[in-house]
Amino acid sequence: MNPFTFTQADNARNAIEQVAGNASFAGEAVRFIAGGTNLLDLMKEGVMLSGRLVDINRLPLDQIEEKDGGLLLGATARNADTAYHPLVRERYPLLTAAILAGASPQLRNMASNGGNLLQRTRCYYFYDVGTPCNKREPNTGCSAREGINRQHAILGTSEHCIATHPSDMCVALAALEATVHVESARGKRDIPFAEFHRLPGEAPQYDTVLEADELITAITLPDASRYAAHSAYLKLRERLSYAFALVSVAAALDIGPDGAIRSARIALGGVAHKPWRRPEAEQLLEGKQPDPALFGQVADKLLEGAVGHGHNDFKIRLARNAIVRALKTAVEGTVTNTGERND
Ligand code: SF4
Repeated sequence: MNPFTFTQADNARNAIEQVAGNASFAGEAVRFIAGGTNLLDLMKEGVMLSGRLVDINRLPLDQIEEKDGGLLLGATARNADTAYHPLVRERYPLLTAAILAGASPQLRNMASNGGNLLQRTRCYYFYDVGTPCNKREPNTGCSAREGINRQHAILGTSEHCIATHPSDMCVALAALEATVHVESARGKRDIPFAEFHRLPGEAPQYDTVLEADELITAITLPDASRYAAHSAYLKLRERLSYAFALVSVAAALDIGPDGAIRSARIALGGVAHKPWRRPEAEQLLEGKQPDPALFGQVADKLLEGAVGHGHNDFKIRLARNAIVRALKTAVEGTVTNTGERND
């Protein structure tokens, strides 16, 4: 690993000042660090170089609390603390399920909520600095298009990149319509979750709309109590734990006393450069009784335009089946995680 400087900030203003304007230090970027579970790997592999890391773990940003009828998740609160928090378990079981489907207990204990949003693709070529990759080094080419692309995207790709976003937590946050709160020397801004991550387009080096000097301070969730009884997070992967999703589905249904679906929220993981939602697919369910044939139509709408790249052609059918199964599971009722935290 290249040598870098490590400093600690005691408050947001100080942290932001140290990173303001993405000033470089010894010619390399200055970055915030919280859990470091992805950033340090990237630095060790030479994928991302940092001249200075500004530790934000001392900032008072680890709250998990009610806010305006919804929930506020501090940026430095740990993924495990979030998943097992009583408010999250009771009111946002979809989020608990998604977080616990990701990574390993050790990583969930260390990874921060803000960092989870910023984790980078697990495209093999992105990590292999000996191969061309437009995301790591713009205008060098995309090795995955003609290479091994079993993990790669089937929706929203560009000729420049077919990478997927790796997070499970973000798939649930997309379905739950979270908001990301950020701060910089220019002030504060709130970013709807659907706009936070971006598609690769012509600039795959950018995963999100966050500026390099902006600090994520919190994520808020609106009241989602109407979805709590009928939600499911289905993750399909190569092995049962510690693997990224081939396809995942976050499904949340608001079902009325007559059994009809009043509204639905569905997001997909493992299929695009960002959690994938299509409100027009969700609208197909409104006012309808649950029905597997209808769920198939919803899946087709969500996957409209899906294209495989060879090794990942199977994902289109896998995703269709996963969407139908997740919706059926959500109708049956949320399986709430009531287990003791033992990690
Ligand atoms: Fe790089 Fe994206 Fe191509 Fe992977 S898919 S090699 S991250 S440009």
